[in-house]
Amino acid sequence: MNSEQKLRVDTLHQQLNLYNHQYYVLDQPTVPDAEYDRLMRELIALEAEFPELKTSDSPSQRIGGEPLKAFSQVTHQLPMLSLDNVFSEQEWQAFVKRIADRLNSNDTLKFCAEPKLDGLAVSLRYESGIFVQAATRGDGTTGENITENVKTIKSIPLRLQGDRFPDVLEVRGEVFMPKASFEKLNTEAIKKGEKTFANPRNAAAGSLRQLDSKITAKRNLAFYAYGLGHVETNGSATEGEQWLADSHYQRLCQLKQLGLPMCPEVKLLNSEDEVDSFYQDILTRREQLNYEIDGTVFKVDDIALQQRLGFVARAPRWATAYKFPAQEELTLLEDVEFQV
Ligand code: NAD
Repeated sequence: MNSEQKLRVDTLHQQLNLYNHQYYVLDQPTVPDAEYDRLMRELIALEAEFPELKTSDSPSQRIGGEPLKAFSQVTHQLPMLSLDNVFSEQEWQAFVKRIADRLNSNDTLKFCAEPKLDGLAVSLRYESGIFVQAATRGDGTTGENITENVKTIKSIPLRLQGDRFPDVLEVRGEVFMPKASFEKLNTEAIKKGEKTFANPRNAAAGSLRQLDSKITAKRNLAFYAYGLGHVETNGSATEGEQWLADSHYQRLCQLKQLGLPMCPEVKLLNSEDEVDSFYQDILTRREQLNYEIDGTVFKVDDIALQQRLGFVARAPRWATAYKFPAQEELTLLEDVEFQV
């Protein structure tokens, strides 16, 4: 390592911290995602080559951004993590090999395959089947309390269906704005001479992080569940877990039975040989889907294996986003609404 690399790492820290703030806190990115991803990958490569340059406050080790002070804060009982990503067949094979090495097994792995929805991660908390709280991911540990805003999303049940569920059930998923709603919103804004949103992801984030839930109510947001957070029965997480299936896919089906929306594209793949065709199929149909996606996500389906694999600093080892090639270099709109 020489001072040139140290200087480059410092510059990358500064740039990425600034872009993170603009994206996560202000909902107002100034560079395309592809540019952000390129800089992040450069930083990760430098940190891999020169481990002494990797610090705990590096953007590569952090999730999202600080929660906005305008909202009350929620501490997540289980952290809300990000996802690692791969961009090529070669990187995908490396991901599978890392799993096989860690499990010390070459057994065929089943994967739960899901579209990577381009919205905003939220955690919904149900107590005795009643919706009591919703929070954003924030920095992964602390998020914003957006309960009133989430209540306006009609597809999210305020009471779970049926009568068998853990006493406490935290559902993790993505709030997003369907493409048609996004286009309508921007068309109306242009007509009224108001500010427009850069893309559906920013529109969803800006709409959800409103201090006035009446505005959120008009925005036609949607939600798909993709996982679970803390569960508990009789004060015990172990008892809470007993209610749940031992397959990630089956758990999502359980959530669906309780009335939570599940993306219809989610599929259980019986071996990694099916991964490529799932990815290609979704990529081909990307334009026809009525919501924006930026890739696919593959999660080891067996919960016991997930637990054995565990987590690294900001993401689980048992899942990865297989991202699509950058679609566009994003024409950023100059005025992006920001209302908190
Ligand atoms: P990410 O968006 O790459 O992946 C993690 C997120 O994916 C989760 O938090 C969840 O919200 C979402 N997700 C969607 N579908 C999912 C599914 N089926 N299962 C699980 N999670 C699912 O990670 P991130 O840390 O939120 O953001 C990093 C990305 O954001 C970057 O790669 C970049 O593209 C973009 N970004 C852009 C800028 C910018 O300035 N343009 C700045 C920061 C981040």
